[in-house]
Amino acid sequence: MKFGGTSLADLDRIRHVAGLVKRESSRGHEVAVVVSAMAGETNKLIAWTRDLSPLHDAGEQDAVVATGEQVTAGLLAIALSANGVSARSWQGWQVPVQTNATHGAARIESIDPALLNTRFAAGEVAVITGFQGVAPGNRISTLGRGGSDTSAVAIAAAVQADRCDIYTDVDGVYTTDPRIVAKARRLERIAFEEMLEMASLGAKVLQTRSVEIAMLHGVPVRVLSTFEPDGSGTLVCDEEDIVEKKSVTGIAYSRDEAKITLHRIPDKPGVAAAIFGPLADAGVNVDMIVQNVSEDGKKTDLTFTVSRTQLHRALEAIEKAAPAIGYRDVTHDASVAKISIVGIGMRTHPGVAQIMFGTLADKGINIEVISTSEIKVSVLIAEEYVELAVRALHAAYEMDA
Ligand code: ADP
Ligand code: ASP
Ligand code: MG
Repeated sequence: MKFGGTSLADLDRIRHVAGLVKRESSRGHEVAVVVSAMAGETNKLIAWTRDLSPLHDAGEQDAVVATGEQVTAGLLAIALSANGVSARSWQGWQVPVQTNATHGAARIESIDPALLNTRFAAGEVAVITGFQGVAPGNRISTLGRGGSDTSAVAIAAAVQADRCDIYTDVDGVYTTDPRIVAKARRLERIAFEEMLEMASLGAKVLQTRSVEIAMLHGVPVRVLSTFEPDGSGTLVCDEEDIVEKKSVTGIAYSRDEAKITLHRIPDKPGVAAAIFGPLADAGVNVDMIVQNVSEDGKKTDLTFTVSRTQLHRALEAIEKAAPAIGYRDVTHDASVAKISIVGIGMRTHPGVAQIMFGTLADKGINIEVISTSEIKVSVLIAEEYVELAVRALHAAYEMDA
């Protein structure tokens, strides 16, 4: 069972969560609980480290931000004990959850389930801090924002759990973010591949890496509401277990986008390599790319997108590589957003993208960049039209409740 920050935001909610855990354990199940920090805590902790020094050590940042989960794990263990349930808290290093050394975005490398298993056998509930682990050199590490989902699925895989239940503030995975589209519908099921795309394209209901691990290890994941825990939620499962394959299952959006355009680059072999090589070396993740055809056969423009947090770093890398690339000038725009339609049915239904382009055109929304894969189409538009675009597409694909 994993509980997010809103579900643990104060002591009353922690008591409520303890009740849900007790119910599960009294059904005769061995239970591991993974907790997030109280809502808002992680933001507060990050802000403190930045206030002191913008260029601080990433290891120390992790030492600070991992504390939010230590508090909720301890409190939930206390609430459980007070409720007559044998329980203890576990921090990442105590389990241990071993990660690599990429502080702030660490990847879990291994989890030893031995200690947890002996405690389960003794009838004890394990309350485990999400989001954190231990990196080489015995340093505390964190897994990136939303990382408790990943902790939960990875622990479920390590202890060979029958199920991983993600309890959150919505009662399942919806066709799109229910906070911006009131007519969004809850999905009974979603395929791992679709959930992976939805998550990586901006639907923060599950962290992307958690879906990857679930898919890799075949962990059945359910998304449920902490506040209406008796609903059926959404099952994230194999594609084969989904009967009705719609052309579009969901719509995701991301505001964490920035666009960079290089004007008048030479249209000759090696130029793309001269641009994207230095970006890769600088650790910048490039997402969408579009290159125009040159009118004169000599010069053209190239546009690509990066996350807003990496915009500065990307511009620095491009400016440094200017002599090798040979562009006239570079412009950027951080007020863009990406809208994506996702569905495994796209593989077999033709004309899916056309509905997207037509719908946006009808609303007068300009598409700046397009990218596609087998099961998704993404477009880059001006940020101010995000909500309008998502609502219009939701209606166009007949997903409105
Ligand atoms: P938690 O703190 O429990 O981890 P999050 O805030 O990380 O919760 O994730 C839940 C939120 O994800 C919801 O409140 C909702 O606004 C957002 N969300 C975005 N896209 C979707 C979607 N397709 N279905 C459900 N929730 C979504
Ligand atoms: N507390 C962490 C965050 O806010 C991890 C999580 O909630 O999943 O990102
Ligand atoms: Mg989350």
